[in-house]
Amino acid sequence: EMRELEQWFFRISAYAQRLLDDLEKLQGWPERVRTMQANWIGRSEGTRVEFALVPRADGREDPFSTVPCFTTRVDTIYGCTYMVLAPEYPSLLDLVRGLPQEEAVRAYVDQARRKPRAVRTAETGEKSGVFTGRYVVNPYNGEKVPLWVADYVLMEYGTGAVMAVPAHDTRDWEFAHRFGLDIKLVIQNPERTLRADRMDQAYTEYGVLVDSGPFSGLSSAEAIRKMTAFAAEKGFGGPQVHYRLRDWLISRQRYWGAPIPIVYCDRCGIVPVPEDQLPVRLPDNVEFRPHGESPLKRCEEFVNTACPRCGGPSRRESDTMDTFVDSSWYFLRYLSPHDDKQAIDRDACNRWLPVDQYIGGVEHAILHLLYARFFTKVLYDMGLIGFDEPFAHLFTQGMICKRSKRDGKLYKMSKSRGNVVSPDRLIEEYGADTVRLYTLFIGPPEKDAEWSDQGVEGAYRFLRRLWKKVYDHRDLLRKAAAEVDPGALGPEEAELYRFTNLAIKSVT
Ligand SMILES: [Zn+2]
Repeated sequence: EMRELEQWFFRISAYAQRLLDDLEKLQGWPERVRTMQANWIGRSEGTRVEFALVPRADGREDPFSTVPCFTTRVDTIYGCTYMVLAPEYPSLLDLVRGLPQEEAVRAYVDQARRKPRAVRTAETGEKSGVFTGRYVVNPYNGEKVPLWVADYVLMEYGTGAVMAVPAHDTRDWEFAHRFGLDIKLVIQNPERTLRADRMDQAYTEYGVLVDSGPFSGLSSAEAIRKMTAFAAEKGFGGPQVHYRLRDWLISRQRYWGAPIPIVYCDRCGIVPVPEDQLPVRLPDNVEFRPHGESPLKRCEEFVNTACPRCGGPSRRESDTMDTFVDSSWYFLRYLSPHDDKQAIDRDACNRWLPVDQYIGGVEHAILHLLYARFFTKVLYDMGLIGFDEPFAHLFTQGMICKRSKRDGKLYKMSKSRGNVVSPDRLIEEYGADTVRLYTLFIGPPEKDAEWSDQGVEGAYRFLRRLWKKVYDHRDLLRKAAAEVDPGALGPEEAELYRFTNLAIKSVT
């Protein structure tokens, strides 16, 4: 269930472009991780188009007069036959107040909030939605199109409003079919064989524009350029860069985290705790009961405090920070852990950092590693450190997996799955050398590896053979000269001597 809470965010979106551009600097990182970060940031270039809201017949005023949307396919806009708003669209209910559709829209918005987002955005599956009774105008052709609410549109992506082009978008296609909305073909394939009445799915590729007014005949790519410029010229839109990266929600309804240093005062409003009163410490006497909210909220002596500004009674923020906040800068604090005057020591940081070689699992590719980069850039901009990337080289080690006896599949070894192997038991059975040898030979460190009990057995047998060989020849070995004269060796001895030196060279 989605509930509206007052929550705190870090504006990482303001750093989206730099986080993307500076991936170039990270030549010491695996290509795969850089690609994952680039995809997560998700830069796309497109067009902003404002649709004018058709005023209400009853003359009642609306909270806004245009509905902006972002699209990467403005070339399809002549095929727009309706527009969809996210159920969370601001002031949505004001648009329908007093209309016959009000009740249906209200009920729909309520049920959409309870739906998991993955279900809402799945390409397949039944689409749902309701007509608002309102219309907007497509600024390219002046056509009036109905305004719907549907939960396949999310507020977080783009503007929360989508121009729907069923002929050229899969989800719009399904929605239009379900609700009997018009489907207008405006992009023709290169063979020019598409017929609106014979299509059985949306045509989502680029093509040539048809039935698109003055833009008919243009290729999609050319049309996107010209139509975007046209929007800017006419003042109803223009080029826009969009990032998939959302702001970082740091509020957690948990005890275990750094308190968010904010105080709410009836007189002064939201007041940050001043620096000389930091850090805000967690209280020890907290009652842990499942109330569905932070346990701190019920700790009166923590929550009730004096406003730092006016001294009047006020309440502390009872949410704590996402623990990713802590892991975003711990490497800065590690250099001066006993410093009680400042969080980080600039000189120590500049002397020792950035980290030359960072090692971590690839599961951190987009959260921890992106957040740590963001923190480093913010602190750099504040002049607190002299570098803007935290980790020069990154090594992502593979994971040790184990085949399940139940379904025969490989799973990452983990405490939660309970499929870990105890080194204590193995050492008891085979000795520490066997366990070390097997671990070293399990595979390249950057690759996942499958743990094999037979492999341990093999390492054990190898070590036993080696030991036996040495033991069997112990008298001979004792007599061996400490110094070797290579010139005096026979051909086989010389060969062995050479391999010995090669082996030493390759491991030292
Ligand atoms: Zn106050």
